Amino acid sequence: MATAFAPRVYKNFINGEWVESCGGKGMENRNPANRDELVGTFPASNSGDVSAAVDAARAAFRGWSLTPAPKRAEILFRAAEILVRRKEEFARDMTREMGKVLAETRGDVQEAIDMTYLMAGEGRRMFGHTTPSELPNKTASSVRVPAGVAGLITPWNFPMAIPSWKCMPALVCGNTAVLKPAEDTPLSTFNLTQALDEAGLPAGVLNVVFGDGPDAGAPILKNLQVDLVSFTGSTEIGRIVSEACAPTFKKCHLEMGGKNIIVVMDDANLDLAIDGALWGGFGTTGQRCTAASRVAVQKGVYRHFAEKFIARAKSLKVGDGLDPDTQMGPCINEQQLSTVMKYVQIGIDERAKLATGGHRLEDAAHAKGWFHEPTVFTDCDPQMRICQEEIFGPVVSLIPFDTFDDALSIANNVRYGLSASIYTRNINHALQAQRDLETGIVYVNAPTIGAEVHLPFGGTKNTGNGHRESGTAALDFYSDWKTLYIDFSDRLQRAQID
Ligand code: NAD
Repeated sequence: MATAFAPRVYKNFINGEWVESCGGKGMENRNPANRDELVGTFPASNSGDVSAAVDAARAAFRGWSLTPAPKRAEILFRAAEILVRRKEEFARDMTREMGKVLAETRGDVQEAIDMTYLMAGEGRRMFGHTTPSELPNKTASSVRVPAGVAGLITPWNFPMAIPSWKCMPALVCGNTAVLKPAEDTPLSTFNLTQALDEAGLPAGVLNVVFGDGPDAGAPILKNLQVDLVSFTGSTEIGRIVSEACAPTFKKCHLEMGGKNIIVVMDDANLDLAIDGALWGGFGTTGQRCTAASRVAVQKGVYRHFAEKFIARAKSLKVGDGLDPDTQMGPCINEQQLSTVMKYVQIGIDERAKLATGGHRLEDAAHAKGWFHEPTVFTDCDPQMRICQEEIFGPVVSLIPFDTFDDALSIANNVRYGLSASIYTRNINHALQAQRDLETGIVYVNAPTIGAEVHLPFGGTKNTGNGHRESGTAALDFYSDWKTLYIDFSDRLQRAQID
């Protein structure tokens, strides 16, 4: 039951066993706050490993799908109890492999706990419908049935929460699954899998292959035995996933990028809005799909807001997430850090005003990690690339605006549609914003982040393809509807005709 207190060599989880990759190759998992620290070595899996995992999932499908949902749910409930017991240890592992501060990794494990309990409860609900038939002596109803073998592909920024968002509804609905977590955060998936295994999940019901996207992710999409795919990650890879699923008509769920906004009206509680914008912009080092990378502020309070916000951003303590004083951790890897640095240069070239930050941190305390200063651009034009494209780092663009209608049009004029927020004390503006903001999630007087597991989660436009994660909405993806009629009239009855 040891977790990675010391570097270890990990294996894939196929058919209830921890097994080596058939290619024998490994990939290193290093701490982004200190790249000298090796967290562990994980299999760099290939299509052979994926085939074995899918075969195991297919073989386990009938038994698991016929297991009563309340019994499936009992296993999830036990897994949740294990996660509760080991929360601190798993949170520490996550900070070491991913960099976000301990308070946030505890939140990530908590989200997995919440989702697991929620789906354990669904095992005794999962309601269908009964409705009157249009014909006499005939019943009409519908029930949820398992959808098949699920391929689950996840990103690194919520290393346990997002795998749990997918695994738990998939499993409680009676599907079996193959999970391919992000290459940067395999340990948290290992920990989640260990909890499910210890809770008594039968062999083959959940299989885990570690590795990179092209070698270990893409073969899941092509495998004819996989019936449905749920992917969370970038819009660019989401398009590849969608196209790969199309030829065999796999049911496909995509949760992708965001360019979220906080709107601050003249009448807002400014201190509250500043707290929200800091948390929304720099929480998880800005590496959340719901990060508030744009903050639009009405001109009456713009200067005052900008001054205070910049001062607060400047004072954020950046460092190792295990240090209790740290407020912001590193970027996940070198590539993400270079993306941030590239966008800072784009912002400067576009003539946005660089008000604070803008550099990689390379002093002795930060030199071994992928750290970047919290960065604020002011006086941005909403059409600038830094206000249109997802940066996924600690960079916030402040945009001044005149009227409420201007704010709505700035908010909606991006290709993404995940989360938006408005700070105002005007009830009319709050309600109008809830109605007119074109995002899957809208907050009033709270930042763009803070989703709760029992409500639907997902976005519009280039963020999603219409399905939702979380809540009972998740059941709609992981189950198929079956419609049932019983005619007890003893004669031929013709719907729409008799
Ligand atoms: P990514 O798209 O690079 O990778 C996501 C996953 O896809 C990883 O497991 C990766 O290995 C896999 N992958 C890569 N290429 C693949 C291929 N050809 N075939 C199959 N799988 C492949 O994203 P990331 O860098 O891990 O995460 C950051 C992105 O995720 C951001 O764009 C962020 O907005 C998005 N995200 C969205 C949500 C949401 O719910 N909307 C939540 C978290 C993160």
